[in-house]
Amino acid sequence: MIPEDGLSEEEVMGELEKRLSLDLTFDSGKILGSMCTYPHPLAQKIVRKYMDRNLGDPGLHVGSQKIEREAIQMLGELLHLKKAHGNIVSGGTEANILAVRAFRNVSDVEEPELILPKSAHFSFLKASDLLKVKLVWAKLNKDYSVNVNDVESKISDNTIGIVGIAGTTGLGVVDDIPSLSDLALDYGIPLHVDAAFGGFVIPFAKVLGYELPDFDFKLKGVQSITIDPHKMGMAPIPAGGILFRKKKFVDSISIPAPYLAGGKVSHPMITGTRPGASAIAVWALLKHLGFNGYKEVVREAMENALWFAEQIRALKGIYLIREPMLNIVSFGAKNLKTIERALKDRGWGISAHRGYIRIVMMPHVRREHLEAFLEDLREILAT
Ligand code: PLP
Repeated sequence: MIPEDGLSEEEVMGELEKRLSLDLTFDSGKILGSMCTYPHPLAQKIVRKYMDRNLGDPGLHVGSQKIEREAIQMLGELLHLKKAHGNIVSGGTEANILAVRAFRNVSDVEEPELILPKSAHFSFLKASDLLKVKLVWAKLNKDYSVNVNDVESKISDNTIGIVGIAGTTGLGVVDDIPSLSDLALDYGIPLHVDAAFGGFVIPFAKVLGYELPDFDFKLKGVQSITIDPHKMGMAPIPAGGILFRKKKFVDSISIPAPYLAGGKVSHPMITGTRPGASAIAVWALLKHLGFNGYKEVVREAMENALWFAEQIRALKGIYLIREPMLNIVSFGAKNLKTIERALKDRGWGISAHRGYIRIVMMPHVRREHLEAFLEDLREILAT
């Protein structure tokens, strides 16, 4: 109920403090199953300072728009694209929807179909529902990567695009994107890579010596990539990224916004009014951390993942689903639901889905948190 007379600031803050004590916080070390993290301190400063900037009306906020373009350009360079087209959007969901929308719009297919791995994120279900694009699911191999032969067998005259995943939501698996790219080129179909999670991991992990397939615009069949700064990029929510190789994709989803201050403005995204602070924070973090700063974040995350996988392997009663490719480790058990409940009762922010519990080594996850978790897990398994 809205009070007749407003409460004091202290009263409101006190009430919020009480209510929000129900939330888990990233700095508690208890959140092990999320792809989000505590935003970098610089990003927090930036949000406070520039929270009024609206990229929906770039005629007013010309500087912010330039910063967004530069942020996209830097992400493009990270992903081996000289000239990138795209935007900082609300997250991986919006980015994936935009890619499907662009693929559909540049095609002249009447009953459009998109081929995607069974491991794809549920954002594609939203895209399908919104855009009336039929999803054609491709099988997975034993190692949970997409079966490229099955993808090929599903190509038809109605196919408007193929999706590959560079860091699946559940297991962090990187699909064989080079083979998908070859397929895309052979059949003249665009390939979208969902690197919402892996985009801020793989380029750095490769330099650190981890063997991972190429996944980005280096591969000529890749026409668009989702890369989320609000996951491993440590940017504040909301900050997703959609990058296209060619301008025609952006043009195909651009809607004129005639009454805005910038005159001829067009919106190639879903949202109208949108936070300039998000794009500014992405720009600032890329500049501030640089390649080596992110590399160090990924180094720790990958080392934690390998160490944790080793610990899980040594435990009786649970098993690793597969060797980690990125900084995600998932384990299964016969009585998974019971284990999940017991862990949650002890305050752990995890969830079991598709038959396993996923631990994501985000930047806020430290070795001591994992040790505390393992201690609880051992106790639970012993009962
Ligand atoms: N794609 C992948 C691979 C994801 O793992 C996720 C979220 O976890 C998304 C897309 C959706 O991202 P968001 O939650 O930012 O919309």
